[in-house]
Amino acid sequence: MKYVEGLRCRECGRDYPVAPQHVCEFCWGPLEVVYDYDAIASEVTHAGIANGPESIWRYAPLLPDPGGERVDLGAGWTPLRSAPRLAAELGLDKLWLKLDGLNPTHSFKDRVVSVALTTARSFGYNVAACASTGNLANAVAAHAASAGMESVVFIPNDLETGKVAATTVYGGRVLAVDGSYDDVNRLCAELAGDHPWAFVNVNVRPYYSEGSKTMAFEVAEQLGWRAPAAVVVPVASGSLLTKFNKGLKELHTVGLLTEEPTTVVHGAQAEGCSPVARAFAQGADEVRPVKPHTIAKSLGIGNPADGYYALRDVRACGGTITAVPEDAVARGMTLLARTEGLFTETAGGVTIATLERLVREGIIARDQETVALITGVGLKTLEALGPNQPTHLEETSVEAVDHALGGVSL
Ligand SMILES: *Cc1c(COP(=O)(O)O)cnc(C)c1O
Ligand SMILES: [Zn+2]
Repeated sequence: MKYVEGLRCRECGRDYPVAPQHVCEFCWGPLEVVYDYDAIASEVTHAGIANGPESIWRYAPLLPDPGGERVDLGAGWTPLRSAPRLAAELGLDKLWLKLDGLNPTHSFKDRVVSVALTTARSFGYNVAACASTGNLANAVAAHAASAGMESVVFIPNDLETGKVAATTVYGGRVLAVDGSYDDVNRLCAELAGDHPWAFVNVNVRPYYSEGSKTMAFEVAEQLGWRAPAAVVVPVASGSLLTKFNKGLKELHTVGLLTEEPTTVVHGAQAEGCSPVARAFAQGADEVRPVKPHTIAKSLGIGNPADGYYALRDVRACGGTITAVPEDAVARGMTLLARTEGLFTETAGGVTIATLERLVREGIIARDQETVALITGVGLKTLEALGPNQPTHLEETSVEAVDHALGGVSL
């Protein structure tokens, strides 16, 4: 890994070599990848990146990249689309949507998995594994299949049928646990110590989480190498939020952004699983675990690994972490669909509902150029919308159509 110096404990600062290890042996703090930013700065340019692949790997110098063949289905370089109709409805001058549902397995998790499995393979692993709230399972199973690796995916037993189907189709093992994601995660932490498997979000988590930075890199590049004024990020473990924030800062560190970013980062959760939002509201530093009961299953992590760091990051930049009511999730999904023609999953509903609230309360001002991260697609979470019946035509006639439309002429 050309520009990677090693791993470092986020708590005590101890250094470790590049290895499949995610916690510090001395203080149990999380390990993070350390780069030689001076070396990166002397090599990366806007033009060089523009000529790179249309995927997360255009930012390879800012990722763990062991060299050699990557595990790559083409994740990343998703559109940043202007959303004028939603902006007008909310009362914003300029709103952008980052459409990460357009990734190969239709969520932002393809970014982190491509990085995690590329690293895992360089360590010699042949089995990819994960604890998942749904989307990660899809991404791990697909990337493993594409790389000729085995996969073993652990999920809670109450996931949406679309997410289960979009995992089993790739032919890996899918094991469902009677319990929440947090129970699944505990099991995986135990297995990771025992089996020679690359758990993307356990033993190779330091590399996995770096993949989330590419969301920030792309947003900045797509805005013409500028940082937005505000961003709304859905929060499960808190990894995406902290890494988005870190990614923006790194662009400045290596000279790709001339001005230091002042982006205000806001986190979004649903009330049924909102441990980070609750800690934020209470002014607490520590996140107290909860039992998830939310329709936004992809965000259903009751004991979020990066919750503490997400709190610290939003406080440092003047942001917030909001919990929206459960019944606002489907409303957020339909608001986005109705105004912009985009069908997002529940996590996107949480993000849009949070954005709506932040603008309504004046926390995001009308003139703040805002980006909302739409991290997955709606076809995977049809259950969230309830039964949506079409209007039944009594007979196939012009009169029946006019009658069905209630006499409204369109
Ligand atoms: C996993 C996930 C997130 C957030 O993940 P973090 O654990 O906070 O990094 C957001 N949206 C979707 C659709 C997800 O699957
Ligand atoms: Zn430590």
